[in-house]
Amino acid sequence: MQLRGVKNLVPAIATSDGAGVKLNRTIGGPVLDSLDPFLLLDEFGSEEGADYIGGFPDHPHRGFETVTYMLDGLMRHEDNTGAAGTLTPGGVQWMTAGRGIVHSEMPQQEDGLMRGFQLWVNLPAAEKMCVPRYQNLEPDEIPEVDGDGGVHIRVIAGDVGGVSGAIDGVAVQPIYLDIRLPAEREHLQPIPDSHTALCYVFEGAVAIVNSADGAADNSAVDVPHHTLAVLGGGAAVRLRAGSEGGRALLIAGKPLNEPVVRYGPFVMNTREEIEQAINDFRAGRF
Ligand code: FE
Repeated sequence: MQLRGVKNLVPAIATSDGAGVKLNRTIGGPVLDSLDPFLLLDEFGSEEGADYIGGFPDHPHRGFETVTYMLDGLMRHEDNTGAAGTLTPGGVQWMTAGRGIVHSEMPQQEDGLMRGFQLWVNLPAAEKMCVPRYQNLEPDEIPEVDGDGGVHIRVIAGDVGGVSGAIDGVAVQPIYLDIRLPAEREHLQPIPDSHTALCYVFEGAVAIVNSADGAADNSAVDVPHHTLAVLGGGAAVRLRAGSEGGRALLIAGKPLNEPVVRYGPFVMNTREEIEQAINDFRAGRF
């Protein structure tokens, strides 16, 4: 079996978005504009209210999906269709913006730890103008798999040893796993050959071991925390924690191979469709 190695490493770059929320950005930043079908990956994490209190006041989206995964803290979501809810630690919101949503994402705390991720997933041309859809997962609705020696995996999307994730009906057939590895432990995850795959380490360190028998050798690449590893081709990836243990998101999806024209929160296929999005938003047609 061909294992996926590391194509390149992208360290997170500190930036801010919304109303001054501090972020670590990998995809969608200056080093890696996008990674088809993924358009953006942000990690937010701070104990200081000032780093996140401004939140993300009303803003539109069209043409793609936003995935919010909370690790710590509370985030309230409200949109122009009247939908609202609060993300709690361990919960996920997979929002298919489709033809258009105007929403806000606001912290429900003034200080204390707020930590999580936002991923943007592109939609194929045929689905960019679909009716908006939400998949809101409470923490206890996400299947979990316990492996040997304390390996713990939360299956947001995809399949781990026959355990299927809670997300369905997404065009790019995503895999989205939160993998916790104690010291020296490993996990072998099959990923369809055709998928784009990445690993974002956010605690400790994780090595991508590119040898069929799992032996540590020169082809193992250490990925420090707050770093994204873009994975090469192959049928599976083998992750192994170092002496401190590690925790990472393993994310994959089928590339769309379509033209991408991007303007802030609108992601379409042509310049004309972006102009249409701007006009529709200004005219209140979202
Ligand atoms: Fe948003």
